[in-house]
Amino acid sequence: MVCEFCQQGIVYKVEVNITQEIIEICDECDTVWFQERECIKITNFNQYMSNKKLASRWSEITILEEQ
Ligand SMILES: [Zn+2]
Repeated sequence: MVCEFCQQGIVYKVEVNITQEIIEICDECDTVWFQERECIKITNFNQYMSNKKLASRWSEITILEEQ
């Protein structure tokens, strides 16, 4: 799936290694989609990871599949 925001990047379903949370992320603009209490929230990778006190590096996540 091509990212709806940047129209360039590919959106991947990924697992955050430490928290094992499943999120979706664009490999171009780093937009992140995640679920919170049945709602889809949109943020960016830096913000998402800093909220978890984690470094926003792709080495912190594992790609599961292309969306
Ligand atoms: Zn994007």
